[in-house]
Amino acid sequence: MAPKKAKTVAVVGAGLVGTLEACMMAKRGYEVHLYEYRQDIRQMEHVPGRSINLAMSVRGRTGLGAVGVEEQIVQRHGIAMKARMIHSLDGTTKSIPYNREGKCIFSVGRRFVNEVLLTRAEDFPNVTIHFNHKLEACDLERGEMTFTNTATGERVSTRADLMIGCDGAYSNVRKQMLKRAHFNYKQEYIPHGYMELCIPATPDGEFAMPPNYLHIWPRGNYMMIALPNQDRSWTVTLFMPFEIFGTLTTPEELLSFFQTNYPDAIPLIGREKLINDFFSNKPLPMISVKCSPYHVGNTSVIMGDAAHAMVPFYGQGMNCGMEDCVVLNEILDQYGDDLTKALPAYSKRRNPDAEAIVDLAMYNYVEMRDLVNSPFFLLRKKLDDFLSIILPGRWQPLYTMVTFSRRPYSSCIANKTWQDKVIMRVSRVAGVACVAALARVALQAVREPAAQQAGRDALMWVSQAASRAWQG
Ligand code: FAD
Repeated sequence: MAPKKAKTVAVVGAGLVGTLEACMMAKRGYEVHLYEYRQDIRQMEHVPGRSINLAMSVRGRTGLGAVGVEEQIVQRHGIAMKARMIHSLDGTTKSIPYNREGKCIFSVGRRFVNEVLLTRAEDFPNVTIHFNHKLEACDLERGEMTFTNTATGERVSTRADLMIGCDGAYSNVRKQMLKRAHFNYKQEYIPHGYMELCIPATPDGEFAMPPNYLHIWPRGNYMMIALPNQDRSWTVTLFMPFEIFGTLTTPEELLSFFQTNYPDAIPLIGREKLINDFFSNKPLPMISVKCSPYHVGNTSVIMGDAAHAMVPFYGQGMNCGMEDCVVLNEILDQYGDDLTKALPAYSKRRNPDAEAIVDLAMYNYVEMRDLVNSPFFLLRKKLDDFLSIILPGRWQPLYTMVTFSRRPYSSCIANKTWQDKVIMRVSRVAGVACVAALARVALQAVREPAAQQAGRDALMWVSQAASRAWQG
């Protein structure tokens, strides 16, 4: 039987992933309708919403490259961040490079990326964008959708051969999937919220801090980060438990909190600005979502945050969502656009990887605010760097695999588990070898025949223990 090729595709949600997916499907020759709740952000003065800038790395860049906008977004407008810059409580800073080979991540503006992708989608004659269209209901098997036109209040019903839900962490398409049997779903809100503040450019229009870094103020239960913007300001994100946000109710309480935890940030943000920005904002929640499968029959699929929202601590939410588009494209190539085969194959291949990065992001939630400051983290980083020099290609630190490669996320975790085992074994043997060396010195030092025999016995015991440690 000839593969059944869908003709019309409806992409719901024109955010970072939906716009890229619309371009990808248009490139494959489908007739694409892109529906977006908001009005056209290119015509808005201020776009409300989450994170002003984002860290873009290899997976996102691959997606952008596939539709020809990587150079425009990353090379021309991205700001390279080659290392983390850690701010200690005493005001000193130290840099921890992301990568021994000098690879970097890029700070890009969310709005800018979204606008470039919208304009790119419009370049395709087979793409129609419907702004002010809010998906209200859909029939996943028939591909039928009902929208409200938020500008006119009118109800609009339509259908497509394939419906792609890219409508974000609180996805309406996913809500419809939830009503079906055999759809697994898990969500988790973490106790921390986030609030965005701003370090403005200096009066002479310069960056107030060294620009090619992701600045981090790790403080155990709290954390603050800052990413550079094109206009030489910094978007600062403060992460802390909602209950701590709740205790900061007056300017005095806020300033005293900053004086205790982030004293060097006060002059950078400015006292007045800190007070104004903090009290005119409210902390936002962070949610983590796992679900499966991502498709229904050969008619519907979810991608991006709709399928796997994650906490932002690995800087991979957008990157993973953009890689979703690349993976679906590869699978459509493989099955000659036969959706009956391609959609189940997509769910099967993508789910373990998406869940792996959701888990890693949660793990980094602790690492970033705590471990980045810890001697063990720094020691492990040095060891990883050393091993990647003596075992080039064989040994890559986890962060490098996740951020600077397209190795499947689940394989990154499996590789890290193997590395941990090797390090554990080697350190056990090294520990035992140290004891053996000490025993040997002791043996030489002891002259009496009876004591020598005891020393020999000890040496024998130690070498047996070393060999057991190596085997087990
Ligand atoms: P969204 O960007 O949420 O887009 C969904 C779109 O669907 C929106 O335009 C929305 O208006 C539309 N929509 C919603 N409902 C409907 C409806 N019913 N009908 C029609 N349209 C609808 N990721 C990184 O890779 N790097 C980072 O550095 C990074 N930093 C982050 C920092 C913070 C504080 C946060 C919260 C997230 C961060 N992320 C980062 C994650 C990233 O923001 C998301 O993973 C990414 O935005 C997901 O894109 P999306 O298109 O799937 O969803």
